[in-house]
Amino acid sequence: MSDFSLDLNEDQLQMQKWVHDFAENVIRPVAAEYDEKEETPWPVIQEAANIGLYSQEAMTSFFSDPTGLTFPLISEELTWGCAGIGLAIFGTTLGVSGILGSGTPDQIAEWIPQCFGTPDDIHLAAFAVTEADAGSDVSSLRTRAVYDEAKDEWVINGTKTWITNGGIDKVPTVHVVVASVEPELKARGHASFVIPPGTPGLKMGQKFQKMGIRASHTAEVILDDVRIPGSCLLGGKEKLDERFARAREGKSNRVQAAMSTFEASRPLVGAQALGIARAAYEYSLDYAKERKAFGRPIIENQAIAFKLADMKMEIDASRLLVWRACWMARNGKQFVSGEGSMSKLKAGEVAVWATEQAIQILGGYGYVRDYPVEKWHRDSKIYTIFEGTSEIQRLVIARAISGVHIK
Ligand SMILES: Cc1cc2nc3c(=O)[nH]c(=O)nc-3n(C[C@H](O)[C@H](O)[C@H](O)COP(=O)(O)OP(=O)(O)OC[C@H]3O[C@@H](n4cnc5c(N)ncnc54)[C@H](O)[C@@H]3O)c2cc1C
Repeated sequence: MSDFSLDLNEDQLQMQKWVHDFAENVIRPVAAEYDEKEETPWPVIQEAANIGLYSQEAMTSFFSDPTGLTFPLISEELTWGCAGIGLAIFGTTLGVSGILGSGTPDQIAEWIPQCFGTPDDIHLAAFAVTEADAGSDVSSLRTRAVYDEAKDEWVINGTKTWITNGGIDKVPTVHVVVASVEPELKARGHASFVIPPGTPGLKMGQKFQKMGIRASHTAEVILDDVRIPGSCLLGGKEKLDERFARAREGKSNRVQAAMSTFEASRPLVGAQALGIARAAYEYSLDYAKERKAFGRPIIENQAIAFKLADMKMEIDASRLLVWRACWMARNGKQFVSGEGSMSKLKAGEVAVWATEQAIQILGGYGYVRDYPVEKWHRDSKIYTIFEGTSEIQRLVIARAISGVHIK
């Protein structure tokens, strides 16, 4: 008998139901309101912390599932509720991934608890890579980190843009910042730093108004002579010096700081996209059975029923790619064909497409704010842009399968 199974175990089913109930009862009722107000949903984050969903313990248990499937399962359920609110709750995991990806065991033990805080003292985290002139092309980062040996401190200057949770000071927020230490080494000269909450010199710049995921805070982060202790360099100075020495000799290195974080988090971002697509599919399926035109439910027309069949098929196909990548990542299997990128690419594009199909199925009702479908379409679009655009995912896959440095 084969070991292969796609059955979820009892723990996974329970966790999935727990988060689904939260999404249905706490997130959905306020999703339209926070989309309209474009504000951080503090009461929802508080409630998530109260029930233990927003906590270091929950994150550890999601990550530690040996199948790797718990985290995508709960990510899908949260964004099924609302992608913007889901990101407001779990945007912190980006900063956490930055620390897990580059930190030493001591740094991980010190900083991860500070990313979450406690229900009485909620903290957040942000991961800041992107700059106005360095998005897909992270090798062009201008933010500089300079080591002040006399004081064993790093001094960071620059401006980051479009940072989820960036610059929030209403609650203590840990910023993980990727900066250039050796500009001549381009991306191989980067390093990641933890900026502790309340550090002077770090402040929020413009807060952006967005098309979708409007409950998630996105802003510039200004770093003006930010001084942090030497111990805030993730991975430590010795490792960094060794890495730079290898880079100068032209020897291969581990993937650069920002890239290793994105590689690990892409399948989970794909899982979020799936949640939106599924919400739109379920809603439009119910609607198509109810809505009558020409004296019969519109689902009796193949033109509508086939759309729904395709939506279901594409969503299931995306989920399989997401689960495969999460299983591989959790079980130490190296991505050889860009499997992480494939999962995010497919799920992101399916979410955009499926939500548009849903609008079509609802007709005029799909286009107005009285119904949730137009919001889901707006929310879905970011999934072809952040954490690597669809074009960049295709580049990763094409390079991986061909061995050719395709531009
Ligand atoms: C809501 C939101 C939240 C975000 N959160 C964060 C965050 O928390 N932290 C963070 O660091 N960043 C964050 N980002 C930034 C995001 O990751 C970048 O926007 C994204 O990487 C794309 O960069 P860019 O916008 O500069 O586009 P560009 O890199 O300028 O790309 C523009 C277009 O050119 C295409 N393109 C570029 N290069 C190539 C190429 N070589 N081949 C083919 N096509 C190419 C792109 O695919 C895209 O279509 C966020 C962005 C948004 C909008």
